[in-house]
Amino acid sequence: MEIACLDLEGVLVPEIWIAFAERTGIDDLRATTRDIPDYNVLMKQRLSLLDQHGLRLPDIQAVIATLEPLPGAGEFLDWLRERFQVIILSDTFYEFSEPLMRQLKWPTLLCHRLIIDDQGKVVDYKLRQPDPKRASVKALHSLKYRVIAAGDSYNDTTMLSEAEVGILFHAPQNVIDEFPQFQAVHEFDELKAAFIDASDRSLSL
Ligand SMILES: [Mg+2]
Repeated sequence: MEIACLDLEGVLVPEIWIAFAERTGIDDLRATTRDIPDYNVLMKQRLSLLDQHGLRLPDIQAVIATLEPLPGAGEFLDWLRERFQVIILSDTFYEFSEPLMRQLKWPTLLCHRLIIDDQGKVVDYKLRQPDPKRASVKALHSLKYRVIAAGDSYNDTTMLSEAEVGILFHAPQNVIDEFPQFQAVHEFDELKAAFIDASDRSLSL
């Protein structure tokens, strides 16, 4: 049995925090796991910036509601779901992802939660578990699934290592150079071919 695990931001949808930084003009909010590999350091910085600028969850959600999946992402995901069981493993938050998941037809998503006070202020966040992407692949292995995974950044590399086959998609050159053990592709057609190659079944495009 096989299962496909995909990262969300940078693979299927834009980087949500970058889009939010562009709308609000807060340049420091542009940082992602591509820039700061330690996710806790990155999130503390984001929450502090939101607080400094008095921004609440509804402000962030209003921006996310204007975003769309990356060009070709919806078609790719439909294609993949016809051939594999698919789980999205993301370091985003359920509070952020809903408008985009609706456009992707509600694939299964494992991610984190924000902690919001009664004024709508983002006061903290709750990670589902440590090293969640690797832990998810391990859990799928315990269910006797063979895992093929694709992601674009540092926070995906433990998932890619744990999977039987790990694929870098849309990754920046520094990640590609640092992790030469993973095949790196840049277009959805190439990603389809990589999944077909990685499968232990005979699938066709
Ligand atoms: Mg990503």
